[in-house]
Amino acid sequence: MIPQIDLTRQHAALRAELLEAASRVLASSWFILGPEGRALEAELAALCEASHGIGVNSGTDALLFALKAVGVRPGDEVITSAFSFVASGSTIALCGARPVFVDVDPGTLTLDPALVEKAITPRTRAIVPVHLYGQVAAMDALTAIASARGIAVIADAAQAVGATYDGRGVGAWGDAACLSFYPTKNLGACGDGGMVLTAREDVAERVRRLRDHGSLRKYEHLELGHSSRLDELQAAFLRVKLRRLPEWNATRRRLAGGYRALLDGLPLTLPVERPPARHVYHQFTVRSAQRDALARGLADLGVGTAIHYPTILPAQPLFREPEAEAAFPVAARAAREVLSLPCFPELTDEELRTVAAAVRTALSRLS
Ligand SMILES: *Cc1c(COP(=O)(O)O)cnc(C)c1O
Repeated sequence: MIPQIDLTRQHAALRAELLEAASRVLASSWFILGPEGRALEAELAALCEASHGIGVNSGTDALLFALKAVGVRPGDEVITSAFSFVASGSTIALCGARPVFVDVDPGTLTLDPALVEKAITPRTRAIVPVHLYGQVAAMDALTAIASARGIAVIADAAQAVGATYDGRGVGAWGDAACLSFYPTKNLGACGDGGMVLTAREDVAERVRRLRDHGSLRKYEHLELGHSSRLDELQAAFLRVKLRRLPEWNATRRRLAGGYRALLDGLPLTLPVERPPARHVYHQFTVRSAQRDALARGLADLGVGTAIHYPTILPAQPLFREPEAEAAFPVAARAAREVLSLPCFPELTDEELRTVAAAVRTALSRLS
């Protein structure tokens, strides 16, 4: 059996260093807002080319606080992708604003700038591009559209830590970029975590307040805030893993290259890599009109797969937009066709060849 993802391999390899990091934090018994968190914030801001990093409880809270920090309020509209994880849309609603879903580019499955432009109204306060599967959205076009109209850009970079666009890190684009350290992400905690990256001093300060009861000084509460800090244990674990991230992302790119060579010529759509985005392959997601049968065939051959995502956001019961499938045809088709193959740094070359051969076999049984 080849799993779609196996985190035990990573933790077995790093076990001694992770235990050392945990024992360092236990010895200090400083668990919240301490030196590990501050060091991680600085290290990730540097890697992603932002001026500030602010650690929070999750990628979801990173999005929520970044949106609030640029002034998203009830009555506002915020544009985001119809094809993403729920948090890209739900955090907009949690601000009291209205998520305005926009269809995606048929190649990259990230926000289509031309459709974004059409969706802008006088109420539009922000745009939330999603760097889906590890590929940065068309940030040059999107930031140009936004800045011409005084609209903020908050990137959902949960899947794209270490990716670049036009040679610059995800933290260098827009007003803020939001990371998730959910365990399966390219940089995953041993629990939950997230971070807001920004070049804006005012946004950084506002997020620092929002994550800690609206407070910057003890017992002085400037506004309504949350209790959402990244704890020291997670920060210490993440610092161990961060040292491997460039190598891991390079391995993901190498695995993707291997899949491309081995799957070439099959009746299957391979992921589109579009410069100047440099993909970090959080997922290697192929497309097939016979997706469900292909997934079953691969399962029978001992290969795990996953679907990111089976339902477009506007069709979720949470948002229940009428005629959603017809209104977002590119996203709706992607939701029927996408299938993510095993792609994680510890996957061996032999396993990769086995997966590719299984895809070939499963497809041949379909036709
Ligand atoms: C993982 C993810 C999030 C949410 O992150 P959490 O840390 O799980 O809250 C948001 N957006 C996208 C695209 C994600 O993949």
